[in-house]
Amino acid sequence: MTEANIVVVGAGVIGLTTALLLSRNPKYSVTVVAKCMPGDYSIEYASPWAGANYLPVGREGSLLALFERNTWQELSDLATSVLEAGVHFQHNVLLNRQKDSSSATGDWTASLMKLDAWFKDVVPDFKILDKSDLPPTYDSGTSFTSVCINTAIYLPYLLGKSVRNGTIVRRATLSHISEAASLHHSGKPADLVINCTGLSSLKLGGVADAKLYPARGQTVLVANDPGVMTSTSGTDDGDDEACYIMHRAVGGGCILGGCLQKNNWESQPDPDLAVRIMKRCVDLCPDLTGGKGIEGLKVIRHSVGLRPMREGGPRVEKEKIDGVWVVHQYGHGGYGYQSSFGSAKYAVGLVEEALKEKAKL
Ligand code: FAD
Repeated sequence: MTEANIVVVGAGVIGLTTALLLSRNPKYSVTVVAKCMPGDYSIEYASPWAGANYLPVGREGSLLALFERNTWQELSDLATSVLEAGVHFQHNVLLNRQKDSSSATGDWTASLMKLDAWFKDVVPDFKILDKSDLPPTYDSGTSFTSVCINTAIYLPYLLGKSVRNGTIVRRATLSHISEAASLHHSGKPADLVINCTGLSSLKLGGVADAKLYPARGQTVLVANDPGVMTSTSGTDDGDDEACYIMHRAVGGGCILGGCLQKNNWESQPDPDLAVRIMKRCVDLCPDLTGGKGIEGLKVIRHSVGLRPMREGGPRVEKEKIDGVWVVHQYGHGGYGYQSSFGSAKYAVGLVEEALKEKAKL
């Protein structure tokens, strides 16, 4: 029996994971409303462009670290027993240079690269690499079992599961978050709205969160198989240029990255950066092309996405706007997949709190 009509605004990994968790509870009737849907590729839609893998970057004790901790088991379960979700286990190797510690990429990976990382007991097989196993220019390294997600398969999977549970999906573009309250598929006013609009919350009426900013990520999708997932703390090509390689599940190709260009809104790939990315990845992992250099790469696509970064980390909070309860859930930067279930569970807790407060009135 329905006790609450809920509208989720946004169909990225955050909105879809939240809708899925809510749809499992028969007391919620859920409508997802969004401008972009799985299958779309737009610079306003971060989720399809992600690698995506699980490499926790939240500082120990932070809300982000809690979200990441509470996401691993769900992704691991999918990789183990729901093969059609497009998530698979990968052996992951991290390589750290001390000289990157003050760079943009070094700051981004500071918690990730620690030898006593907080997640060492969360992921399986965590190991500190022996100095003799490191490539010459690296000071330390770790390895563990992680996952890589084929976003082209995973986003429709999340949507499909939710629809099977009764969620209704509608296309709409909102100029103010309050408009969502009148978009529930029952025609009745929504009891609660969940705002999962990512970077668009920078300008969305009723929200306009000035703490949001983009961090541009450029990648090259190739058909080659590297045989390993790997990332470094930085490169010698600039403060905000990174090197990472991840092979997506079920034929999704291999993502070569990348960069973390803060406040850069450019949607088109930079050809020079693309060459640097390919060269760095092949230098780090010659097996990618069997020793043939970058000419041996089989390029499928050059891509650009904007990570929805937020000063202070993701915002997962409840607030009453124009008399309607809104649970905000945005600003998941470069970690939306690896924090998705943890963040969505936390948001569902806020939904329950808000509905209890509403019932008291
Ligand atoms: P989005 O995916 O941007 O979705 C926002 C949704 O809101 C869309 O449906 C949009 O149409 C809708 N919307 C916005 N405004 C409105 C409006 N006014 N009206 C109606 N609908 C609206 N994360 C990881 O965990 N691991 C990785 O390896 C990883 N790699 C990445 C690599 C790159 C290159 C990039 C760009 C990102 C990467 N990320 C990774 C980060 C991850 O992609 C994001 O954190 C995540 O996609 C954010 O999801 P979201 O649902 O908040 O936002």
